[in-house]
Amino acid sequence: MQVKRIDRIQYIEVKFPGTACSTQGFTTRHEGVSRPPYNSLNLGMNTQDQQATVEGNRSLLARAFGINQEALVTPRQVHGSDILVINEQNEDFSHFLSVEGDAVITNQPNVMIGVCVADCVPILICDPVKKVVAVVHAGWRGTADKLVAKSVAGMQSEFGSNPARLHAAIGPCIKKCCYEVDEPVRKAFQQGGIDWDSCAESKSPGKWHLDLTAANRELLLLAGLAADLIQFSDQCVCCHSEQFFSYRRDKDESGRQMGFIMLKQ
Ligand SMILES: [Zn+2]
Repeated sequence: MQVKRIDRIQYIEVKFPGTACSTQGFTTRHEGVSRPPYNSLNLGMNTQDQQATVEGNRSLLARAFGINQEALVTPRQVHGSDILVINEQNEDFSHFLSVEGDAVITNQPNVMIGVCVADCVPILICDPVKKVVAVVHAGWRGTADKLVAKSVAGMQSEFGSNPARLHAAIGPCIKKCCYEVDEPVRKAFQQGGIDWDSCAESKSPGKWHLDLTAANRELLLLAGLAADLIQFSDQCVCCHSEQFFSYRRDKDESGRQMGFIMLKQ
């Protein structure tokens, strides 16, 4: 993963080795049109930022990758575990903006699917054999619900993907250094059957520092992905205010970056 510029968009480019069927990456906060505190590439619809400005930023992103804004699909994220499947051609996908979901799977080329995040984990998945891509939004709830594993299962059942052939990239998120959580989170992980001790470190009574990257990497491995096909960013969005938005750091004054992926024609 390395920082790349396309048009005026600065983003972290992800390359899946041995395949060129998709374009994907993680945006940074640079070079958009939002004013402070949302400066400047705020892509999230659910912030206090001006709607028209966010639309402008989304248009900048779409155009940089050669598509219309109508082909940029982000669902209405609710920290749930619904998965949106797009398997039909369409000119305008904007109606999906009002559909609730925290993951998207598609086999359609030239549709950019994305999730907006501030601290949560954006995860990109590509099946270069069946030509299917997915994007997942996993905060602690989505991780406890194993949404990334459900998305892999969805790629299997809907499109015949073989998990062992899937590539995945786990993007910048809040890291263990800054992510203190308490008992309800531990309880949710244990109810979900996730090994808490492998991803959380006890700091003080009733407080832990949680590693969402490790937890989601483990879920991908358990879902059947090969370790050498899973990449992950080691950047903490909360530590790097110059590069990323972080809700825990900036609260309601935080914008949103995006993890995105698009199949090529
Ligand atoms: Zn940090």
